[in-house]
Amino acid sequence: MTIDLHAHTTASDGTLSPRELVALAKKTGLKAVAVTDHDTVSGLAEALEAGRELGQEVIPGCELSVGEGRQSMHIVGLWLTPEAPKLREALEFVIRERGNRNHKIIAKLNELGLDITYEEVAERAGGTVGRPHMAQALMARGLVSSVNEAFEKYIGNSGAAYVPRTRLSPAQALEVLRAEGATPILAHPYLLQLPLSQLEVRLRELMDLGLEGMEVYYTEHSNDIRRAYRALADRLGLLVSGGSDFHGSVKPGIHLGRGKGDLYVDDNLLEAMKAHRRERGQWV
Ligand SMILES: [Zn+2]
Ligand SMILES: [Zn+2]
Repeated sequence: MTIDLHAHTTASDGTLSPRELVALAKKTGLKAVAVTDHDTVSGLAEALEAGRELGQEVIPGCELSVGEGRQSMHIVGLWLTPEAPKLREALEFVIRERGNRNHKIIAKLNELGLDITYEEVAERAGGTVGRPHMAQALMARGLVSSVNEAFEKYIGNSGAAYVPRTRLSPAQALEVLRAEGATPILAHPYLLQLPLSQLEVRLRELMDLGLEGMEVYYTEHSNDIRRAYRALADRLGLLVSGGSDFHGSVKPGIHLGRGKGDLYVDDNLLEAMKAHRRERGQWV
């Protein structure tokens, strides 16, 4: 039987509610479906409740956006509780830091001699403050002649006042997932754009930090990639995962459990993960 261990709901950027996703999994005949919304566990309670009502196995999880320097990656954690107190705390910290980021950029602009205040930027924004509003404020003061110039010289990713977005590092993400008793899995490894030999090096580093599995069967992985990644995962002793990255109608070509039509994730992979967890005294 087939499973899908990577799917999104309205708790992040999917279009089906957690309950609707579970109902679709049931209708599709999936043995199990994992709910893995971006940087939140807020859909898990509803998904688990729907699973109990409909008799559909639901694996509660999430997909963390993590990064270090210019490299970013997604790490899926499976078997999270809906409460996940340590994970929630870490995610709230990131959100708070992102609020502070605007203040830090403006402080840097001031250090560079550009006289703008947070208040005048916030006034332009109305709601959520971002760099475009800073560009407008700089223009209004005659400090730059265009939004482009503001980004190029000052606030763009190579600008003099740039402050990177706060993200969890891979080490932090893996630490918090482990503290929650979740099973951490590298999502869609092809997005790292590393040749196999370098991917192996990266995976070994991540394994030292607590990574336990990788997605092999993934919508955007070609058959060649699936074969190569399967061999690599087996060689490294990583759990093998797979999923569609279903988002509902925002990604209309991607179907739950089937990806673009050629995806098949066998439920024996889930059984292997459960055996691995039981060995470690973790719940399944
Ligand atoms: Zn992802
Ligand atoms: Zn995803």
